[in-house]
Amino acid sequence: MLTLAAMEKVRTLVVGAGITGLATAAALSEREDDDYLVVEGDREIGGYCKTIKKEGFVWDYSGHFFHFKHPHIEAWLRERMRGQEIRKVEKKSFIDYKRHRIDFPFQKNIHQLPQDEFVDCLYDLYFARAPRELLGPAAPPPAEATDDSFEAMLYSRFGRSIAEKFLIPYNEKLYATDLASLDKDAMGRFFPHANLTDIVRNMKVANNASYNATFTYPEGGAIEYVKALASAVREGGIRLETPILGIDLETKVAKTPKGDIAFERLVSSAPFNKLLALARVPHDESTFSWNKVLVFNLGFDRKGQRDVHWIYYPDREITFYRVGFYDNIFDTDRLSLYVEIGYAKDAVVDVAGARARVLADLERVGVTQGHRLVAEHSVVMDPAYVHITQRSLSEHARITANLRARGIHPVGRYGGWTYCSIEDNIVEARELVASFS
Ligand SMILES: Cc1cc2nc3c(=O)[nH]c(=O)nc-3n(C[C@H](O)[C@H](O)[C@H](O)COP(=O)(O)OP(=O)(O)OC[C@H]3O[C@@H](n4cnc5c(N)ncnc54)[C@H](O)[C@@H]3O)c2cc1C
Repeated sequence: MLTLAAMEKVRTLVVGAGITGLATAAALSEREDDDYLVVEGDREIGGYCKTIKKEGFVWDYSGHFFHFKHPHIEAWLRERMRGQEIRKVEKKSFIDYKRHRIDFPFQKNIHQLPQDEFVDCLYDLYFARAPRELLGPAAPPPAEATDDSFEAMLYSRFGRSIAEKFLIPYNEKLYATDLASLDKDAMGRFFPHANLTDIVRNMKVANNASYNATFTYPEGGAIEYVKALASAVREGGIRLETPILGIDLETKVAKTPKGDIAFERLVSSAPFNKLLALARVPHDESTFSWNKVLVFNLGFDRKGQRDVHWIYYPDREITFYRVGFYDNIFDTDRLSLYVEIGYAKDAVVDVAGARARVLADLERVGVTQGHRLVAEHSVVMDPAYVHITQRSLSEHARITANLRARGIHPVGRYGGWTYCSIEDNIVEARELVASFS
């Protein structure tokens, strides 16, 4: 039996070699603290930012289009990606609404709907949002009174028609849950808000700017950003195929199949609920819920539609909620798609059945028109989107405060039980390392 004296010891043990774990290790190295080890259960680095290359197609686990708000972070990454072409692309995204093409976001482009549907949307929007002094005494009560769940927020800010024609069916397909259970800010800054003025102004002068009006993408796929981060990690600093199987909070020892590791602090990008199970932290499991997303990456024999990067599908009859077009980033000559389908966390995923429906639905919506499939890949991302509820927010904050006091830091999209981008992961990792004494 391994004694404590013989046991491997590190100052900082990092769980997971995805974007967050690698950014943490890179930040430690930058401040010349090499007393760390990244342990990764998988046989490759990258987490959800892995890239698959097949028959000349380049795909990620799910389409990762990158939006940087911090020029210094983008510059730091690019500095380590010399020789890699990185395209900056003006995003073109649409909604397939009953086979009409509407610019995204739906709520700002209701004037593109057939006239009767436009009138429904505008009427309901007006009574949901118009200033009280314009509405008069007979108007319904103020919308903000019911603004506390994601679903209530959608109704109160946009009115029944916009909510029920797009925002609710689309998000129900994605999150695979009752939207009334989600917090009103479940999508944070990723939700395209628009007020009455924005919406009416957009009818004359289009301005569909959003957090991701442009995006960047490296020719080698998302993994190139991962490699850039990994290049700043100390030699031997990443140990693959080393899952953490248990964490003893008293002795600060993590168990792996390759031996126990003692640590002073532990930074974990593992999903929060899994960390709690590994460390045997008592909690109510029902607090933390999520969806999983089945992704099909599909390569076809010839080009499809041009000038489109994403199409959103609110139609419940269509299997997928979104399709992304890789071939229109680098303008390659064969249709290259990723197709996303949301499932509840406990749902059984029938990949073969879903594949058949996806191929039929792609023809039905006109994305493929007799195209021949020449390469494919699929993956289930589980978890994909965590369900941010008022309870998950308060319980995550409470338990995390206790863990931090013991040197355990849950981080990243899943450790933080949040909705974020890879840039957010890098910012968080750097701030955490800067806070270490
Ligand atoms: C469908 C979808 C689309 C997205 N699109 C974009 C986008 O366009 N742009 C963007 O910026 N972001 C996007 N994201 C978000 C982005 O993928 C994440 O922010 C990022 O990959 C999270 O990195 P992470 O390191 O925090 O977590 P992960 O990538 O999940 O990495 C965690 C790592 O920990 C490892 N691990 C877990 N448990 C253990 C254990 N017990 N022991 C050892 N290792 C363990 C896992 O194997 C994994 O490698 C998207 C996410 C999804 C789901």
